[in-house]
Amino acid sequence: MQNLMSPKVSKKRIETLEKLRARIERDLERLEEGADLVQQELAGEANRDDRIAEVAALAQDQELGMTLEEHLTLLLKRVDAAIRAIEEGTYGTCVSCGKAIPRERLEVVPYADKCVECQRREEKR
Ligand SMILES: [Zn+2]
Repeated sequence: MQNLMSPKVSKKRIETLEKLRARIERDLERLEEGADLVQQELAGEANRDDRIAEVAALAQDQELGMTLEEHLTLLLKRVDAAIRAIEEGTYGTCVSCGKAIPRERLEVVPYADKCVECQRREEKR
């Protein structure tokens, strides 16, 4: 178990995740209203750095046959789990192999719960 984050960094990361969570919830609401979110995601905001990983994950989930709603619901679960992990001090540890997830990966995918190797292995299944 590794907890390399200072309380200050933890707090900031929770804020990031909570913002993300709020946005996912908003997206889900808009989805219920029938908005064409994929078009919006891919057209505009996707160019912003902080959205690239997310849009890539979305494309991947859709390849696996997931609907946008399923993707967002899953994302919400991941974000919740990440917030819980920060609070419990287990954040940043791969749930699959127990190794530390590189900080750079967590910067890009703050809700990552697996290291790149385990993530890839899982996607190949
Ligand atoms: Zn791993």
